Amino acid sequence: MIKQNKSIAVIGSGFSSLSAACYLAKEGYHVTIYEKNNTVGGRARQYLNNGFTFDIGPTWYWMPDVFEKFFADFGKKPSDYYALEKLSPAYQVYFDQQDSITIPDNFKDICAVFEAEEPGSSKHLIKFMKSAEDNYDIAVRDMVYKPGVSPLELVSAKTAVRVNQFFPRYEKKLGKISKVKN
Ligand SMILES: Cc1cc2nc3c(=O)[nH]c(=O)nc-3n(C[C@H](O)[C@H](O)[C@H](O)COP(=O)(O)OP(=O)(O)OC[C@H]3O[C@@H](n4cnc5c(N)ncnc54)[C@H](O)[C@@H]3O)c2cc1C
Repeated sequence: MIKQNKSIAVIGSGFSSLSAACYLAKEGYHVTIYEKNNTVGGRARQYLNNGFTFDIGPTWYWMPDVFEKFFADFGKKPSDYYALEKLSPAYQVYFDQQDSITIPDNFKDICAVFEAEEPGSSKHLIKFMKSAEDNYDIAVRDMVYKPGVSPLELVSAKTAVRVNQFFPRYEKKLGKISKVKN
């Protein structure tokens, strides 16, 4: 139902504006999106030139659960709108024309790539991924869906004990890097 005389202007058409506009429209507001570029999508839009298509921003389909939740809120699923195709290998990192690492599409093979590069390194990768998994679960549960009205929303028993991981002190890290370089 349209909420009488309730019009909302949304500035921009990136993921955040588009999703906010969808939720507002679902609540019955009359929503108008204003975008300064010729195409929608913000950082995630495409640039077409000479028959080539360039993705301007995102490369990785991170946080698929966030997309699934978004579409589910409207009784839909991502596959109603696009098809995901898993790439194998996942990607290749070039350090020079002749020097690159190919990253496979599964964790077991990625560990093998790490071992080939530096024996013993895969155990550190496994440890890092475990901690990243825990952080991800906490971030999605305790942080991502907060309205963003106050920084205090981000404080919970779980986030408080990991404050250095969620809010790293960059000046400390940068200090370390510049010391190494000197
Ligand atoms: C190089 C790069 C690589 C990335 N890789 C990944 C990735 O692999 N995976 C991933 O998940 N994320 C990735 N990201 C992040 C992701 O692209 C962004 O987080 C996301 O697209 C941001 O969406 P947004 O709606 O917050 O902002 P934006 O996409 O920046 O949208 C803001 C919109 O507002 C418009 N706008 C601003 N001011 C005005 C105005 N005054 N009037 C009208 N319109 C206005 C802008 O033109 C723009 O369209 C990447 C980003 C970049 C730049």
